[in-house]
Amino acid sequence: MCGVFGVSGVPDAARLTYMGLYALQHRGQESAGIVSVDEQGHARAHRGMGLVSENFSEANLTRLVGDVAVGHTRYSTAGSSVLANAQPFLIDYRNGPLTVAHNGNLTNAQALRKELVEQGSIFNTTTDSEVLLHLIARSRQATPAEQIRETLERCEGAFTLLMSVGRTIYAVVDPRGFRPLVIGRMNSGVVMASETCALDLVGASMVCELQPGQFLKIEDGKITELPRLKPRPESRCVFELVYFGRPDSRIFGESVDRVRRALGRQLAREHPAPGGEVVFSVPDSSNAMALGYAEESGIKLEYGLIRNHYVGRTFINPTQAIRVAKVKIKFNPVRGVIEGKSVVMVDDSLVRGTTSKGLVQMIRGAGAREVHLRLSSPPITGPCHYGIDTPTREELIGANHSVEEIRQYLGVDSLGYLSLEGMLRAAGERSRFCHACFSGQYPTPVSDNSIAARHAAPPIATPV
Ligand code: SF4
Repeated sequence: MCGVFGVSGVPDAARLTYMGLYALQHRGQESAGIVSVDEQGHARAHRGMGLVSENFSEANLTRLVGDVAVGHTRYSTAGSSVLANAQPFLIDYRNGPLTVAHNGNLTNAQALRKELVEQGSIFNTTTDSEVLLHLIARSRQATPAEQIRETLERCEGAFTLLMSVGRTIYAVVDPRGFRPLVIGRMNSGVVMASETCALDLVGASMVCELQPGQFLKIEDGKITELPRLKPRPESRCVFELVYFGRPDSRIFGESVDRVRRALGRQLAREHPAPGGEVVFSVPDSSNAMALGYAEESGIKLEYGLIRNHYVGRTFINPTQAIRVAKVKIKFNPVRGVIEGKSVVMVDDSLVRGTTSKGLVQMIRGAGAREVHLRLSSPPITGPCHYGIDTPTREELIGANHSVEEIRQYLGVDSLGYLSLEGMLRAAGERSRFCHACFSGQYPTPVSDNSIAARHAAPPIATPV
């Protein structure tokens, strides 16, 4: 998963992008970058590993001149976490400087890459996104829009893209619409972002959300709609609403906060907790679900766990043996809320189960009489091939164990997963969503080696 942000026709576009990327930090913490383009069409880039706050200084923002910019925050799902893979990519080709910022994952990237390598292409990164640069540059079509279209018609999987060629930005969402992209206005300029919370932060007003297959050309603040990509069945990622999106965003036309409260209410209907005295969330992604659960069940909502927001990505993972130490650094129980009580803990999902197991031990250590765990999504039974970094099937606890086995492993008195039907009902219209990691119904052909390729060895060449 990644965040993308773009600006056209606003002075000091890089500085605005820098602010926008702050609002999209939750979508990727491994690297951040901005490419700016000045009035003469010259492009400049700055990319680095780590958070937005760690990457940009007054000096490098001043160097990124121009009223056009594209930014990216990266969370690696294809290719390892190294600087060479940081985006936006910037190359020069026959139509000028070409920038690509990609959110999603191409499921046929390996096949495309193999074909390109056999034809003589030299790759500088291990990401799926680099094939886009090669295909666009090699296209015999006359205009950048036609080159991009020809390229995207060959791609399978998830691609929400902001690309610039010279001073023109192209914004496009794949025909299934896995990942979100919104367009906003700022005076006579245009702002593009993965989520509406980034438009809010920079003070842009919302114009529209791109529909699956929609393809826009944005030049000097003017938006032109290009013919859409060939249609496919809509497959919006339901996990964007359940976990990834910020609750203050609207995603796929839905308020993330509204959906999460509805998930919590549905969870309370499906899995009540008789005798429960307090309900609390595993903060922060489950806060609205716990609120919904409390509303529906009538059980009092409390702050039972406090999250330390300053752990940062540099915290070194401890060994399995002291895994609970990692949980302790991130969360601390509020003893006065928990002690002697029958507690209901609401979480968004269960992946490996190691964090939840540590949390349960911690809550019992704080004196809880009973611990009931409620999960606002069904068991995750398969990996995501569309841009979310879920582990392999072997590591997914829900893929290999029954609910009773998981309950025993976690050490809870009761465990309730929201049903697939209940989750989709809360999210909106069922047919719009991808739910493959829960149901196994993948909307595109997938191969297992696309997962194996995710964390391939870093490249030996210099970054593009
Ligand atoms: S497989 Fe799961 S995480 Fe991936 S796009 Fe589909 S719903 Fe989203």
